[in-house]
Amino acid sequence: MKKIQIALDGPAGAGKSTIAKQLASKLGYVYIDTGAMYRAVTLSALESEVDLEDGEELGKLVKTLAIRLTPGENGQRVFIGEREVTEAIRSSEVTNNVSFVARQKQVRDALVALQRSVASEGGVVMDGRDIGTVVLPDAELKVYMDATVEERAGRRHRENIARGMESDLQALQAEIALRDKRDSEREVSPLSQAADAVYLDTTHLTIDEVVDQLNALVNGVLQ
Ligand code: C5P
Repeated sequence: MKKIQIALDGPAGAGKSTIAKQLASKLGYVYIDTGAMYRAVTLSALESEVDLEDGEELGKLVKTLAIRLTPGENGQRVFIGEREVTEAIRSSEVTNNVSFVARQKQVRDALVALQRSVASEGGVVMDGRDIGTVVLPDAELKVYMDATVEERAGRRHRENIARGMESDLQALQAEIALRDKRDSEREVSPLSQAADAVYLDTTHLTIDEVVDQLNALVNGVLQ
């Protein structure tokens, strides 16, 4: 059967990665979390104390990093060279700084090239902020997933509690709103809905309902 490219964009915490993972496994496609790549660069920049406003230096750094994503039992694993950074890239320090790194053109140019090369075989579900607009403008299916900021923060909060982590709902909501603002207002490839993307508001939908809707959209494209 023909294999297509699926682009999933949307703001932080809209459930893109959960949905993308499930959809990819249902279809036998590769799942690519582009946010993890920006997070890996941010982790490395923080560790090597590169100025996060310095696009030139960040651009040099990104070229030295062999970022790899591999499927694992509990979701996608992320490596820089041989070092696994799957957990480290989810720290609040990385989360609160990633938008600064992601707004630098040199960083985006390098990561977009990497993302296109891993998607070139087809049969991919890629999630991010600029997939339908910039990375894969010819993707056969583009979906922009959204939900209210209250719902997105609430989902993160419930996830944290379920993992036994401390969680502050108000702080989470403020963090998500600030990251969305930075990602939407940056000059290079801001978060925005592609003109040919399907808009999906998941505020009142369960994960299964969203996966079913996407599956139906995929079937529509494949027919
Ligand atoms: O998807 P996730 O929340 O892990 O993404 C982390 C950050 O990486 C985003 O807030 C954004 O700044 C950046 N990002 C991006 N373009 C993408 C994916 C993520 O700018 N395609």
